[in-house]
Amino acid sequence: MVLKQWLQRGSHWIKQAMPGYCAFCLAPALAGRGWCATCLDELPWNIHACRQCGEPVANETPLCGHCLIELPAFSATRAGLLYQGGIKALVHDFKFHASPRAGTLLCNLMLLTPPTAMGDALVSVPMHPSHARTRGFNQSHWLAEQLSQQLGMPVVNGRRIKILTLSER
Ligand SMILES: [Zn+2]
Ligand SMILES: [Zn+2]
Repeated sequence: MVLKQWLQRGSHWIKQAMPGYCAFCLAPALAGRGWCATCLDELPWNIHACRQCGEPVANETPLCGHCLIELPAFSATRAGLLYQGGIKALVHDFKFHASPRAGTLLCNLMLLTPPTAMGDALVSVPMHPSHARTRGFNQSHWLAEQLSQQLGMPVVNGRRIKILTLSER
């Protein structure tokens, strides 16, 4: 990588790579955590969410407009944080730069907002093997394995299949 490119992403990379310091602002982190108290407070928490699909909704509204019209095939969703600000940067760093610290931080943040009803197993979003080779590894499966160790729950492998419509047959 040329120096200019390295410098452009350097400041973000330094934040992700320094254990003991907050991944978002570089202040000293809370003991055993990857963030400081201020940044934890300011993260985009998904406080009022549709109980069915996890989309943000107005206070005290149980279901979003989409779910009121047609319920999805799954029974509940828990998305503790919104894809905004520091979380967006963290996901980007994990997904496209394979940062293990970003992955560990995401896993630890997910554990702060567990679902109210835990299931029997974890299933990561299946990725096509050729796509995983391009990315370097399957991030979704890596996260599921980290969560599995923390929660003592098994990981079940899913498989991506394509359902042909009548016009494609
Ligand atoms: Zn901070
Ligand atoms: Zn919904």
